[in-house]
Order: sequence, then structure tokens, then C-alpha cells
Amino acid sequence: MKNVRLETVSKMFGSAVGVENVDIDVKPGEFFTFLGPSGCGKTTTLRMIAGFYFPTKGKIYFDNRDVTTLQPNKRNIGMVFQNYALFPHMTVFENIAFGLEVRKMSKAVIKEKVERAQKLVHLEKYGARKINELSGGQQQRVALARALVIEPDILLLDEPLSNLDAKLREETRVEIKRLQVELGVTTIYVTHDQTEAMTMSDRIMVMKEGVVQQIGTPQEIYNKPTNHFVASFIGESNVLNGEVVEIIENSVKVKLEDHIFVQGSIDQSANGKKLTIGEKIKCSIRPEAVFEGPGVNELHGTIQLVEFTGVSINYVVKVGSNIMKVMIINKGNRILNRGDSITLHVPVNGIYLIGE
Ligand code: ATP
Repeated sequence: MKNVRLETVSKMFGSAVGVENVDIDVKPGEFFTFLGPSGCGKTTTLRMIAGFYFPTKGKIYFDNRDVTTLQPNKRNIGMVFQNYALFPHMTVFENIAFGLEVRKMSKAVIKEKVERAQKLVHLEKYGARKINELSGGQQQRVALARALVIEPDILLLDEPLSNLDAKLREETRVEIKRLQVELGVTTIYVTHDQTEAMTMSDRIMVMKEGVVQQIGTPQEIYNKPTNHFVASFIGESNVLNGEVVEIIENSVKVKLEDHIFVQGSIDQSANGKKLTIGEKIKCSIRPEAVFEGPGVNELHGTIQLVEFTGVSINYVVKVGSNIMKVMIINKGNRILNRGDSITLHVPVNGIYLIGE
């Protein structure tokens, strides 16, 4: 279990920015995820931690050891990639044993460690099978066993589930999380899939175009997004433009447009920043934070689209000049139609204020 620390790490590719000024402090045993769209710099950051790239600027520490320019094989890391990178004509046993043989361990020790690793990923009966005789999910478990068998200080996983079908992806997701908790190994996980990030991580770093947008627990990232990008990348969010018109003790009144106001609580204001009257602001409102019927922050609109999912009734509602997505949990309630008027309300804590 090691702590991983990046201090203002940047990586340039010629004049192009790969990542810029990344500061992170991954705690020992933590499951930490880099999340963001394609090209945001997740893999580049992971590769610098692995030692495949050296930073253009900044420092990387494992505990207090400076590893910034240390070769990958000196870092005691386990890695799993999207494409597994297994040896297809070798057996499961031989693949898992590979890293131990490189380390020149004795045959008896190798056998014991490999068998233990096979058991860990539920492949104890598959030692003699060739890789090309396994399913995608089984191959991914071999890759995981191969990474874990060397008892790494740090486990790095780069989109390990993206080649699996939906059902297997879900099963393997649970399996990886179980192993990680059981072994307590510091884990850094790269994905563009928000569900994976939300369900597996202790903390998530959201990135965009090489720049860190927010670091927080899944709950913090979801409930308190710091900006428009995070609010819309994680889950769905209505992001409405407004202007602060009144600050009353613990709440803020925001004018969305003529005659349409909402009130949010002060502790919901972005980054704990002090707000001022007249300030332009955005309100992030999750579809599930909107309720049907009269109440606080009452809004009136016209239904433009109706979608019934079974679990919920989803409406697209025009409120003034804004379009809002609304998710009503299906409790057998009546379903309105396109063109109907609807009254909505949003509890004060369902409105999260984000900066411009
Ligand atoms: P994906 O999910 O598509 O793998 P990513 O978030 O992992 O994306 P990176 O691969 O880290 O993104 O790329 C970050 C940026 O750096 C991108 O703009 C990419 O084009 C650029 N980049 C990455 N590797 C190189 C390279 N070897 N040479 C030049 N540019 C690169």
C-alpha cells in the first residue's frame, strides 16, 4: 500500500498539451479514478505514473520516494490494459507466472503464487488452458491475476472493461472492486464510463482537455459539481443561467428570467465562493431533484416530450425560455401528455449554484 502523489505534473507532446498541472494525492489503499472524455489526458497521466512517459514538468512520488524518472520495472506496479496484452499461445499459468520468472523466483514459489492468484480471480481450474481458448472476461481475469501476482504496491488499470459486453462488464466491475478491497492495494483506474467511476471509486478526478476539473468522492462530484462541464458529464443536469438578485442569510435568490426566480442555499454555492448581488451564475438542477406539483421554487411549464421507462416518467418541459429535463419516479401516477401544462417545484437543496 503506497501513497501516490503528483505535484504540478505536465506533459507536452511537442507544442501540444497532453496534461497540465495535475496535482493529486492518492491515499494508501484508495481506489482513485481518472474520468473524462476521449483525449482529456487520462492515459497520459497514468503512463507517467507507470513510468512509460516522463513528465515535462512536475514531480511524482510513491510515498516520499521521488519516482519521476524511474524506469517502469523499478516501480513495483501492476498494470492491466484494455487489450489485456497477454501472450495468446501460452497457458494461463505461464502468463501469470511471467513476471515472477523475470524476477528469477524459484519454481516452487512461482507455483504457489500463481495458484493463489488464479484462485483470487476464480480461474483455479484453468491453469493449463491457452489464452486463445478463453472468453474475453476470463482473459481479463488472467490479466488481473498477472498484475496482482507480483504483489504490486500500486495497481494501474486502463479501461480494463471496455472490451467486454455489458453483462460481463458489470460482473467484472464487481469482481475488481472486491479484489481491490480484499487486497487493499492502492489503485488508479482510467475510464470514460461514469457508471464505472461512480460505483467503484473512493474518489474521482474529472478531466477535460488535459486539465483537472474536479476531484472528489462520487457523491461530491454528483451533488456538488464545480462547473458546467462536470454537471453535464456526470449524470444529467439542467444548467440554467441566472443572476444573483438577493442574498438572505443562508439562501440566495437567483433570477433566471423575467418573473422566474429560484432560491438555493448558500452552502450550495460553487466552491464556497462568496456571492455578490448582480453576479452571473449558473444553477445546476438534476432531473430527479424536480418534483411535480406546487411547492418551493415553483415553476410552470409546458410538456414537450414524454418518455416512460418503467422506473420513471421523464418529461422535457419548457419553462420560460429554458428547457428542463424532469424525472418523476413512477408510483402509478398519472402520466401527462405533450402540450399539457405542468407545475413543478424544486427543493432549495436541489439547486446547486455553479460559477460561470
Ligand atoms: P482516450 O480515452 O481516448 O484514451 P485519454 O483521456 O486517455 O483519451 P490521452 O491519450 O492521455 O487521452 O491524450 C491526451 C492528449 O494528448 C490528446 O490530445 C492526445 O492527442 C495527446 N497525445 C497523447 N499521446 C500522444 C503522443 N504520443 N504524441 C502526441 N500527442 C499525444
